Order: sequence, then structure tokens, then C-alpha cells
Amino acid sequence: MTQNYDAIIIGAGISGAAIAYELSKKGYKTVNVDKLAAAGHGSTANTCAIIRTHYSTLDGTALAYDGYFYWKKWGDYIGDTDEMGLAKFYDVGFLVIKPESFDLSKYIKLHDELKIPYEIWDREKLLQRMPHFVDDSFYPPRRPEDPTFNDPPTGKINSTIIFFPCGGYINDATLSVHNLQRAAESKGATFLFNAEVKDIIKDSGGSRAAGVTLKDGQQIYALVVVNAAGPHSFIINQLAGIADKMKIKTRALRHEVHFVPSPPEFSYEERGLMVSDGDAGGYHRPEAGNMILVGSEDPACDTLDWIENPDNFNRDVTTEQWNAQVYRIAKRIPNLPIPGQPKGIADLYDVTDDWIPIYDRSDLPGFYLAIGTSGNQYKNGPVIGQLLCEIIEACENGHDHDKDPVQVKLRNIDFTLDTAIFSRNREIIEGSSFSVLG
Ligand SMILES: Cc1cc2nc3c(=O)[nH]c(=O)nc-3n(C[C@H](O)[C@H](O)[C@H](O)COP(=O)(O)OP(=O)(O)OC[C@H]3O[C@@H](n4cnc5c(N)ncnc54)[C@H](O)[C@@H]3O)c2cc1C
Repeated sequence: MTQNYDAIIIGAGISGAAIAYELSKKGYKTVNVDKLAAAGHGSTANTCAIIRTHYSTLDGTALAYDGYFYWKKWGDYIGDTDEMGLAKFYDVGFLVIKPESFDLSKYIKLHDELKIPYEIWDREKLLQRMPHFVDDSFYPPRRPEDPTFNDPPTGKINSTIIFFPCGGYINDATLSVHNLQRAAESKGATFLFNAEVKDIIKDSGGSRAAGVTLKDGQQIYALVVVNAAGPHSFIINQLAGIADKMKIKTRALRHEVHFVPSPPEFSYEERGLMVSDGDAGGYHRPEAGNMILVGSEDPACDTLDWIENPDNFNRDVTTEQWNAQVYRIAKRIPNLPIPGQPKGIADLYDVTDDWIPIYDRSDLPGFYLAIGTSGNQYKNGPVIGQLLCEIIEACENGHDHDKDPVQVKLRNIDFTLDTAIFSRNREIIEGSSFSVLG
């Protein structure tokens, strides 16, 4: 077989484009194949693009803190290669309000260990900074159809309120992927669009990956094939014949995000923060046009919407979920203007059994995994590029990554990451939040 490329990357979302950039900087001749018409048009297009550092494990926190610096110095990382300009990072900080029952000391310990700054706020400080809030406690979150939904608050917020200054959001996630595409192309990478992978080619003995077959029959050969197919990851694993050979599985979960205007007395455009409000049951952040983006952290009262076929799901927002998410946030922001017509998006997370991603080799030599991003790995895209690049290099040079997991020295912080945490064959990580919070 003639090798057309050194590496084929299936998917041109944030993960696939970042892997292309890192591999091409190392001299690999890469090609990304994506069935959509352009880069970043898969689930990355609808990400909330929130950058934050609070995760439930030390490695997850380190990964996110390292990722934060890529966004902060995005132009330095990407260079001046994109005619469309650069995605912009709004470094506004991230406020966390949790119910009293939640043990916040875990976040504090992890942030202390990694020397990540944070501030402890009391209710007075909260209302000074967010004067449009009420400081009541609404826990536990409920659905509007619950007859107790409008019961009076159960008291005042009674847990530690933490503000993490190292956090924010990216204004245009699709543009950020385009930035990566152009940066990778400047190093020799190729991107093929409207190119759907229908099969994984193996060598004549079937012992390693050798390429992909596209829907139109075209075959592309390379010794390295990377699955970065987002919510379609499980389908690509089935094509490669490895889906049943890994302990941790991935599946697609539908999620809605809604848009409402800022309250009249407080401009989110000028003063808005990122807010994770576990007490009220959702998160929100400033959105262009002085709007607020409202998301859900999947409180226990909500049913998770698992999707069998990621090519066939309801992309419209539903009135039921709009009411649940928007009216929960309206408890915290009593003056929230709520339009009569729901407005928002619906897209898919690619969720693992423990909501921690898989960045690993697979049981098919030459076939690698950057999957299971569980609704929280956009922010880590550039670091995913580095991790996969180092795992691929080590394995292709004969290193036994399963026995002796690759250790990656992160670039922006003083931390060496043991990639065992992202193994496809790990035991479920019990310390995980088992939620989008990672
Ligand atoms: C509503 C929502 C909100 C989110 N909010 C946040 C957030 O605030 N912060 C955060 O960090 N993360 C967030 N996430 C998660 C984050 O967006 C994802 O982790 C990330 O975008 C996944 O990127 P990806 O490149 O792995 O997948 P994708 O962007 O989905 O890219 C995969 C690509 O593979 C292609 N593909 C699939 N199958 C094939 C095939 N057979 N042949 C060729 N191409 C194929 C697809 O077309 C797609 O373009 C959110 C996700 C969603 C859905």
C-alpha cells in the first residue's frame, strides 16, 4: 500500500484540528477528513466555549489550567495565519455557587496544590458584584411541572461562594477551529471536507490500522489513524473493530442551551461573569448582543436524553427544557426578561461512563482515540493536541503505553500529567463529578 499521509485524523472539530496542528509541527504529513463542509461545524460549533479550572481530579484541573493559558495567549500559539482573524477570549472570571451539601473543599485543595488563584466570597460580596441576583437558596432544583417549583426559597445561600479569576469564554468556537486549521495548513497539513469515513482499512494481516475508506469509495492510507469524531466516536470505534475491546465506552447525550436578554439593570455585555449555580440548577454566561446564554448542569430531577443515532436527533429546543433551564435561572435573577418564543440550540455531548475523556491508543495498533469529551473538553483542545501527539510518537516508536503510560510535561504550568487517567481501560474514576463538570 502506498502511504498517502503519515496520519489520518477523523474529524475536524477542536480535537482533530488541534491534533493536526501539533502533529504537523512535528513534521507529520497529516490529513483531517470530516463529513461536514468545514472545520468546527460538528458539536464544537454549538459549544458554550466556557474556559474554567474547577474539575474534580488533580489531572483534570491541571489540564484545564494549562489550557487556559493557550486561550489567553491564543495569538502566540496560533501565529498570524488566518485571514478571518482570531477567536477572542473574554477573561471575565468564573463564579461558583453550590448547595450547602456540596463539599467545595475539594476544589480549594486542588487549586491550592496547583497554585491557581481563587477568591472566597460571602453573600454581601456576591450581591455587590451581581446586584441583580437574589441570595436565596433554591436547592434542590426542580422542574416547572413540579407543584413545589414556586415554593418560597428554603433559606439563604449557605455554602462557600468561590470566584475563580482564571476563566471566561471564547466568542466564536468555530473560528477558533478555523484558526487551528490554518495554523496546521501553514505547517503542511491537509483538510478534506464532505468526506465521510465509512471504513477503517487494516494491513493485510489485519494487525494494524492502515487507512480509511470514504463514502465515495476513495481510499486513503496512513500508518496512524486517529478517532476524533466527537459524538460519532462510538461508530468509528465499531468500524475499527475495537468498540468491545475497551472498558470505558462513549455514547451521545443531547443537550440544550438557551438565550435570553440581560436584565435591564445589569448589562452582561459590560459586567457579566460566568456563573455555575448548582443551587439554582444551571449555569449562565454573557453572550454577544447583551444576551445571556443559559445551560444546564443536569440536576437529578432532569432526565438525560441519550441518543442512539447521532445523525438523527431533535436539533430544535423544546418548550419543556426551555422552561426548566430559563425559569431556574430566573429564580436567581428575578428581573430576567423571558421571551415568549424559546431561542437556543441543541447538540450532542460525547459522554464516557465516568465523564472523563479518553486520550489513548487502542487495541488496534496505529489506531488512536481522542474521544469521550463529555461536554467539557473544548477548553482543553490545544492540550489534547499535545497529549495525542506525544502518545502517538511514543507508541509508534515501540513504547508500551498500556504498561507504562506516557507522562506529558505540560507547557504552561509546572505539571507532568500521567495520561493513565485518560486510558480506555481505566477503572471508573470514582472521584469524578459524573457530570458535565468533569
Ligand atoms: C451544547 C454544548 C455545550 C458545551 N459547552 C462546553 C463548554 O462550555 N466548555 C467546554 O470546554 N466544552 C463544552 N462542550 C464540549 C465541547 O464542545 C466538546 O468537548 C468539543 O467541542 C468536542 O470537540 P471534538 O472535536 O471532539 O468533536 P466535534 O466538534 O463534534 O468534531 C467531530 C467531527 O467529526 C466529524 N465526523 C464524525 N463522524 C465522521 C465520519 N464518519 N467521517 C468523517 N467525519 C466524521 C464530525 O462531522 C465533526 O465535525 C459543550 C458541548 C455541547 C454540545
